[in-house]
Amino acid sequence: MNVVTRFPPSPTGFLHVGSLRTALYNYLFARHHGGRFILRVEDTDRSRYVDGAVESLIRTMNVMGLDYDEGPTLVDGEIVEVGERGPYVQSNRTDIYKKYSKQLLDQGDAYHCFCSSERLTQLRDQQRLAKLPTKYDRTCSGLDKADVDARLEANEPFVIRLKVSEGPIMFKDEVRGAITIDGSEVDDQVLMKTDGFPTYHLAVVVDDHLMGVTHVIRGEEWISSVPKHVLLYQKLGFPLPAFAHLPLILNPDKSKLSKRQGDVAVEDFLGKGYLPEALINFVALLGFNPSGDKEIYSVKDLQDAFDLGGVNKSGAVFDIEKLNWMNGQYIKALEPSELLKRVRPYSPDVDEVLLGKILAVEKDRLSFLSQITEHLAMYTQAPSYNAETLVWKKADKADALKQLSGVNDLMKSLGEEAFDSVELIEGAIKKYI
Ligand code: GLU
Repeated sequence: MNVVTRFPPSPTGFLHVGSLRTALYNYLFARHHGGRFILRVEDTDRSRYVDGAVESLIRTMNVMGLDYDEGPTLVDGEIVEVGERGPYVQSNRTDIYKKYSKQLLDQGDAYHCFCSSERLTQLRDQQRLAKLPTKYDRTCSGLDKADVDARLEANEPFVIRLKVSEGPIMFKDEVRGAITIDGSEVDDQVLMKTDGFPTYHLAVVVDDHLMGVTHVIRGEEWISSVPKHVLLYQKLGFPLPAFAHLPLILNPDKSKLSKRQGDVAVEDFLGKGYLPEALINFVALLGFNPSGDKEIYSVKDLQDAFDLGGVNKSGAVFDIEKLNWMNGQYIKALEPSELLKRVRPYSPDVDEVLLGKILAVEKDRLSFLSQITEHLAMYTQAPSYNAETLVWKKADKADALKQLSGVNDLMKSLGEEAFDSVELIEGAIKKYI
């Protein structure tokens, strides 16, 4: 099969580490099978529109090395779409969604709903009070055509809803296995909103089909939407793709990973000096491990090994200590010249030769590159300390100063080579003592 995967984030201005894992797994799966990987921008929720978010998303994908075959790219700062199945930005596809929502209306599989948001809120409140599932009560599903036409003619605001049929809805998830839900548990989902934009549900099904997506790989939080999507696939006459829902990413206390407990934005990690290759390695192992004990993998290794059957069902804990350790391993392994280049933004004023020497010592102690700023002070600034602490038991201040100056002179008199060997320095000091 010619595999096609996609990563379709809603542009929020930053990339969540969970989304990075989703993008990576889609990338790895497509590359493993010699298939195509698509970036699509899901921006139909206009109330959440963030200026510049698409550009920032594309840049982050590039920095992370997640090359895609189709989708929006940046050329001289402008968004340019690459690929034959575009547009890849959903807000430019509204005519397409209108066409499919009309098909559903014509088939009797969708209906106009004129209920006001006040009425819907009231309905939900009543259902909650009565401990019933909160669902639309289908008031508008029985309106006759003349009534609907008259209200449309009068420009009454409306949404278009899916008419959910009763009966079992079945699908197979590549991670979780076979799942069956009864249609009676599914709400008559809104497909087109009052502003003329589609909801996520209609847009995702139409686009995945038209873009030839064969495997839908995404976070577990979307699994409850699949029954609605399955109905849409059926009613639109589209074949079902394969679904794979990835386990949640959790805080160490097993709550869902959230901003409150620390950084979640990939851009923030990059800003602190986590290396893209280390972040990729780290997120790859949140839910998948090719061998179980090995921890360091190149993208190529991951690509060779990646397999949906190997994805875990249970949530993966985001352990920052482990990320720090892993990033440290990647820092240690960098060539000195490469390390110097990457550290430069965090230490712009330090002389290059001096910085090189400092890094030779410090590289084993860095968990992320921006830490160099704190470590530099030791080399570039006179230390501040309480002089009393240098006075040895039976000596006095003048004596301590004399002896320490003697050690200082001794150090200066040793050749540079002496500093390559602890023994040489130790020997010289012992002799002095
Ligand atoms: N736009 C959705 C998101 O923000 C995409 C979900 C999906 O992959 O279907 O994650």
